[in-house]
Amino acid sequence: MEKKQFQAESTRLLEMMIHSIYTQKEIFLRELISNASDAIDKIYYKSLTDPQLVFDKDNYFIKITIDKDARELTITDTGIGMTAEELETNLGVIAKSGSLAFKKEIEAKDGYNIIGQFGVGFYSAFMVADVVTVISKALGAETGYKWQSSGADGYTIEPYEKETVGTTIILKIKENTEEERYDEFLEEYRLRAIIKKYSDFIRYPIKMDVTTHKPKEGSDNEFEEAREEQVINSMVPIWRKNKSELKDEDYEQFYASKHYGFDKPLAHIHVSADGAVVYQAILYIPESIPFDYYSKEYEKGLELYANGVLIMNKCADLLPDYFSFVKGMVDSESLSLNISREMLQHDRQLKLIAKNIASKIKGQLQSMQKNEREKYEKFYQAFGRQLKYGVYSDFGTHKDTLQDLLMFYSSKEKKLVTLAEYVERMPEDQKYIYYATGESNERIEKLPQTELVADKGYEILYFTEDIDEFAIKMMRTYKEKEFRSVSSADLGIEADDQDKAADAENADNQELFSYMKSLLEGKVTSVKASKRLKSHPVCLSTEGDVTIEMEKVLNAMPN
Ligand code: ADP
Ligand code: MG
Repeated sequence: MEKKQFQAESTRLLEMMIHSIYTQKEIFLRELISNASDAIDKIYYKSLTDPQLVFDKDNYFIKITIDKDARELTITDTGIGMTAEELETNLGVIAKSGSLAFKKEIEAKDGYNIIGQFGVGFYSAFMVADVVTVISKALGAETGYKWQSSGADGYTIEPYEKETVGTTIILKIKENTEEERYDEFLEEYRLRAIIKKYSDFIRYPIKMDVTTHKPKEGSDNEFEEAREEQVINSMVPIWRKNKSELKDEDYEQFYASKHYGFDKPLAHIHVSADGAVVYQAILYIPESIPFDYYSKEYEKGLELYANGVLIMNKCADLLPDYFSFVKGMVDSESLSLNISREMLQHDRQLKLIAKNIASKIKGQLQSMQKNEREKYEKFYQAFGRQLKYGVYSDFGTHKDTLQDLLMFYSSKEKKLVTLAEYVERMPEDQKYIYYATGESNERIEKLPQTELVADKGYEILYFTEDIDEFAIKMMRTYKEKEFRSVSSADLGIEADDQDKAADAENADNQELFSYMKSLLEGKVTSVKASKRLKSHPVCLSTEGDVTIEMEKVLNAMPN
């Protein structure tokens, strides 16, 4: 039989994966079980839309079998199965795209659990097995197929007699070595613990034959060994559980098992709504920026379940763009199962859920901002820019949601402050919210334009990102206070005597100033005496709405 080669990239990836994620070998089981569960989901979903197919829950399960002598661990499912083509495309090409990014991630985040989110979950089997055999029969197929591979050297596919639809995966568990133990993956108690830890919420029974000790008939102190099939998982999805039963670790496990990210979530939100619209949701605010976050490739969205059945992997309509970093899932009884993407967009229930979710996320962020400032700053460091884009692009509708979440570095506090905190501290006579733009806080500190405002004892917000000034231009005001750049001509600072003095000087030096203006022809609109300078001899200021910094950004933009 011809042996096919994995695609070149796959070989490299496989090597990398096998060698870089050794710390968490046990997760291979989570990956295979979740694939099995996905496969049953698929057949279940089909049965809901295809009257020919009847889904009898009792016939759908995942079974784990151990054969210690043969060193074989088998995972069987009654899911949708794979055709020969599917075996080839699904298991023959690893991480079709994004493999470079994948590699970068491994290098950057060593030790994190990265398997799965790049469609490479299946290959984790090679962390514990020398040979992996997949026997599968697809729904509606005449015959089954056997796929086999011993790792990076390729795989074979051949027809194989299989009666029932579904997939069986046989792992030939590696021998123990000096450094690594593999025997544990043939131990009942160990497998049970792994299943409990990672796959407890899987909605189909995960069965295993276990040895039990029962009292011998007619005896109190003698026991008899017996074999018995048990269901290991509780099958209650985590989002249906009571918040009080769940620990942070449970949410973290779920985050990892769903491949929402390979970081630890910064915060989670568990919603159980039964008001106008009934739904449960588990939402996460990630700790770090996904590698493709600020690129076109990034797809926002939440997993969408209709009454416990996954109907969409990334439902974009559930998240506004400014919260596109949020990960998680929503399950609602109010949604129809065979709803199409187009119908979903117009679904009233879904709109209500989305609105509700946005306000929950906002609430969570606000409470973090208030009670866990350090954590919030970490979040803001990663995703603050997205919030500012939200303000800039669609402020009209999101004003209330977003303005309180913004933070800027303060000249007075020497740290990030909220606009509310700024306004709270404003002296009676201060008219505007002052800001200064520049490349860095250090640079802004040295700007001559900040002197007068700072001298008055007013606080200045430092804008170091391009988007900052554009965002607040959209807002115009916060709590009825206008924003004003320190380089603006009208600072609204009472300086009567100084103004008079400046006017007098302007009159006296009329000739000099027009001469200077002619020298700077086309570069400035006027040259004036100013009293705002304390220690610097000269500064640039602007008239009108567009400041020097904005002009720089606008000029740098491609036409
Ligand atoms: P992912 O699950 O992220 O798509 P995997 O590497 O875990 O990536 O699996 C690759 C693909 O192989 C799956 O998307 C699925 O189409 C197929 N597959 C894997 N295991 C099974 C299974 N037990 N039954 C049916 N299809 C499977
Ligand atoms: Mg998978």
